[in-house]
Amino acid sequence: MEYRPGDRVYCKVRGVALVPRASADFASVLEFEVVVGGTGQCVVFVPPYFNIDGRLVLTPGKLEEWGLPDQLQGACVYELEDGDVVRSRGNLQVTDGLACVQCEEFFPMAEPNQADGTLKCFACRQSPYR
Ligand SMILES: [Zn+2]
Repeated sequence: MEYRPGDRVYCKVRGVALVPRASADFASVLEFEVVVGGTGQCVVFVPPYFNIDGRLVLTPGKLEEWGLPDQLQGACVYELEDGDVVRSRGNLQVTDGLACVQCEEFFPMAEPNQADGTLKCFACRQSPYR
């Protein structure tokens, strides 16, 4: 999967541990915001109130490695891989493509084709019940 800063990803959690996507043993699904994008992996913000096992605190060295602004020093992040991510949702403010309003698939370079400025992909327009 391709991740970009600002995307939302959803992960299974149990207690203070992230649970692999394939596991049925989880308590809830939480939303995280991608701060560093990538292919097959990404780095997400961990809210201060969520004490997740394996989280990292952003140090000056990490900020430099990932090209992040200094004001994020001390914030908590977590490195995710595809196997941790249940699903992701592109940031609709990104201008070089759009996610389908119905199935949420992302289409690079797509333009809005609905009256309200959203995109509905060809497959969803053909079969509204998919
Ligand atoms: Zn669609």
